[in-house]
Amino acid sequence: PLVLGIETSCDETGVGIVRGHTLLADALASSVDEHARFGGVVPEVASRAHLEAIVPTMRRALDDAGVTLADIDAIAVTAGPGLAGALLVGVAAAKGYALAADKPVYGVNHLAAHVAVDTLEHGPLPEPAVGLLVSGGHSSLLLVDDITAGVTPLGATIDDAAGEAFDKVARLLGMGFPGGPVIDRTARDGDPAAIPFPRGLTAPKDLAEHRFDFSFSGLKTAVARWVEARERAGEPVPVADVAASFQHAVCDVLTAKALDACRTHGVRTLVIGGGVAANSRLRVLAEERAAKLGIEVRVPRPQLCTDNGAMVAALGSHLVAAGVAPSGLDLPADSAMPLTTVTVSG
Ligand code: ATP
Ligand code: MG
Ligand code: FE
Repeated sequence: PLVLGIETSCDETGVGIVRGHTLLADALASSVDEHARFGGVVPEVASRAHLEAIVPTMRRALDDAGVTLADIDAIAVTAGPGLAGALLVGVAAAKGYALAADKPVYGVNHLAAHVAVDTLEHGPLPEPAVGLLVSGGHSSLLLVDDITAGVTPLGATIDDAAGEAFDKVARLLGMGFPGGPVIDRTARDGDPAAIPFPRGLTAPKDLAEHRFDFSFSGLKTAVARWVEARERAGEPVPVADVAASFQHAVCDVLTAKALDACRTHGVRTLVIGGGVAANSRLRVLAEERAAKLGIEVRVPRPQLCTDNGAMVAALGSHLVAAGVAPSGLDLPADSAMPLTTVTVSG
């Protein structure tokens, strides 16, 4: 099927077009620069930017794919989770285009789309697979049996998301927003073993209760304390070593727990998605450790890891192929849409 996907859950206005598992267009407009001076995404600013960007981004995607709206079989749109006002712009646009062109519309889960997008790069996902979803607002381990039917949560962060930890640590190092890409770059010149930052929820007593859960707020605090102590002592802060050691602490726990989940559930494929999946250290570490266990790691290219319209189209394409009923024109936006719901019904 030829499916168009619309993404507006946060600060990226994305429109993607796929045919089956083939990516035809992935148009993106970002308001990230408008948020940078606030150190985080400002919901009102994001909504307004989506309103301005949605029609031109839609046109660009159709142009890039060389198709018209009439050619499209179905429209998919992120219905949640995300910023309520931002989601509404995409959902309203999807309904408008669906009504105008008489197309079925699917309101889909943004997080399931972060997992489904990998099929555009690596083809159909072997099922069952373990999914590691690490983004700005979420960090979860999932069992994926059939992405069109839902996923089974195995564990999640009990405090900060992994991306949030990158953003907060970058902020305290004075590096700007968003923090992930700049820490990734800075860490290349640092030693990941320089500073032994804590690994959350890995002590035996924590593992008993939180085997597949994550915690990053203690790590963030430990980095803050370490930097403060340096500054108080009047010593320079070795920024590259701090970035590399912090990044390694995050990636160490993420990969160890994800591979433990694979082993526990007898699963041979690990798929990683979400903005933090763009991290170069995470990709290398996951590959290295998985290879030793005979587990295949799938991570889409960095552009497809952060928010985009192609991921929504990819999930929509799975839903159409599986014969799942569309949502209907009264589909709601759901800012707190749970991971277990793949599509909303109107
Ligand atoms: P969610 O998907 O949970 O709703 P979101 O859509 O805001 O949140 P994404 O766009 O999926 O999140 O991811 C953004 C996050 O990814 C930010 O926290 C950003 O710092 C982080 N990130 C992006 N690139 C990298 C990188 N190379 N290394 C680490 N983190 C990264
Ligand atoms: Mg973003
Ligand atoms: Fe996201």
